[in-house]
Amino acid sequence: MVKIMIAPNRYIQGPGVTKEMGNYVSHLGSKFFFIGGPTAVSIVTDRILASFRENSLDCHFEIFSGECTRSSAAELSEKARNFGADVIAGVGGGRVIDTAKAVSHELNSGLVILPTIASNDAPCSALSVQYTDSHVLDRFLILRRNPDVVLVDSKIIADAPTRFFVAGMGDALATWFEASTCTKSNAKNLPGGVTTCAALNLARLCYDILMEHGVSAKLAVDQDAVTPAVEMVIEANIFLSGLGFESSGLAAAHGIHEGLHALEGAERTLHGELVAFGTIAQLVMENYSRKEIDRVIGFCNAVGLPVTLRQLGVVDISPDNLMKAAEVACMEGLTTHNSYFEIDPELILGAIIGANALGEATQKNPGG
Ligand SMILES: [Zn+2]
Repeated sequence: MVKIMIAPNRYIQGPGVTKEMGNYVSHLGSKFFFIGGPTAVSIVTDRILASFRENSLDCHFEIFSGECTRSSAAELSEKARNFGADVIAGVGGGRVIDTAKAVSHELNSGLVILPTIASNDAPCSALSVQYTDSHVLDRFLILRRNPDVVLVDSKIIADAPTRFFVAGMGDALATWFEASTCTKSNAKNLPGGVTTCAALNLARLCYDILMEHGVSAKLAVDQDAVTPAVEMVIEANIFLSGLGFESSGLAAAHGIHEGLHALEGAERTLHGELVAFGTIAQLVMENYSRKEIDRVIGFCNAVGLPVTLRQLGVVDISPDNLMKAAEVACMEGLTTHNSYFEIDPELILGAIIGANALGEATQKNPGG
């Protein structure tokens, strides 16, 4: 067994770091092609221009609000080539980040990621999830290397809607449990090795930070405030969860997330929100202690992560309907198969129903 760990070349986080961006990225090239959603671009443009001028860096902003598909990546690659880009910079949330990664991969260029929300752990990884034009999962594109620089402005993250920050905690909540499962099953991580002591401990640290500081960080972000707890949770959501999942591996929580995503009503639910419920289902399936499961559900209730199917937007909770999710979760190639025992749709269905029942019980009797 070969241990492999991968990571971005530089991770930079702090309030206002966007204003210094030019100083942090000038070693990568001189022509930066930014890809970002309209809101994200409007937030960062003025902040970065002065330091880009000081460092004699040229930049172009391309507004992108589409899906991360092979065709959108090809189209943007063409534009970036015409601009003569030597660095691609992705600004925004998960979809934009994955698109920027795919474009950089196509051009074999430098890559800078500026997440403007902390809703998932995509920024640091060498993975781009691409969808078809009809919004169905197409492929997992593995990049040649991780981003050169991940630049996280904690003030921008705190100013964004709290729901994104909380969803990021949902994605990060899964990291330790999925890493533990992969350790038991010897499942391969993203770079094709097994986990290191380092990656496993980063995954654990990610969980411990959420449990210790998650609630106070959420309350601060409600007020757009950056506190030490907020800084720690941003690091957990983006850095620790990113390194933890990529170098330790994903398991049933993310597989079940794919299944739930396919259910009617869950379309508008964020990735991290589905993953949070998927985590509870994984714990039920792996028969964790009631104490540990209660801790996770209690955390979700305290920060506002969904613990019931109803909260995910799923109205039809009949076993027939939920079986559709269970079948998707068992599809070949999904990380549900990283479990340390054989999985089948019946097992996943039971876990989803069991998790929902535990979640519903806490809604009826919030104290216990
Ligand atoms: Zn995720």
